[in-house]
Amino acid sequence: MSTDAASTVKVKVATCSLAGCFGCHMSFLDIDERIIPLIDVIQFDRSPLTDIKIIGDCDIGLIEGGLCNEENVHVAQQFRQHCKILVAVGACAINGGVPALRNRYSAQECLEESYLHGLGVVDAQIPNDAELPALLPKVVPLQSAVHVDYFLPGCPPPADAFMEIINAVLQKREPQLDYATRRFD
Ligand code: SF4
Repeated sequence: MSTDAASTVKVKVATCSLAGCFGCHMSFLDIDERIIPLIDVIQFDRSPLTDIKIIGDCDIGLIEGGLCNEENVHVAQQFRQHCKILVAVGACAINGGVPALRNRYSAQECLEESYLHGLGVVDAQIPNDAELPALLPKVVPLQSAVHVDYFLPGCPPPADAFMEIINAVLQKREPQLDYATRRFD
């Protein structure tokens, strides 16, 4: 990792998973031992990696997953409000990905298949607690709700892509993703 532009003020990074599978977060952790010098120059804010639940003002927000319910939209808006740079991470954030497979059905049909008619379902009942976030009619990409500054394609993006976006911010330059870090498989 290059930390040429490292300063005493750490770059604050927030991450979250919305309608995703956490595979993008796992890929981020594939930076392996590079995380050791990285934590000298960045500080994680809200993230599953820290278990911090409330986001503060950050330099970079990395969002995995698209939007499938009202809570997802709220979190995306919070990240947009608090992050100078917002990054859509992975196919699910960019185009809905695997969760968007439900888009050919209505939300009600999905609930009925999951909770009433699914294989092995007994004592069937669709959960209706008021605290549960309502499903959106369709799974939609992140950029349908908030402005996105950068997109990291892939399912998941490779660890090198995460390193490049963070190094670019540290060095105050535009990220350069070569072919290997723009894979789509
Ligand atoms: S892009 Fe792939 S790895 Fe990332 S959250 Fe979606 S399904 Fe998981």
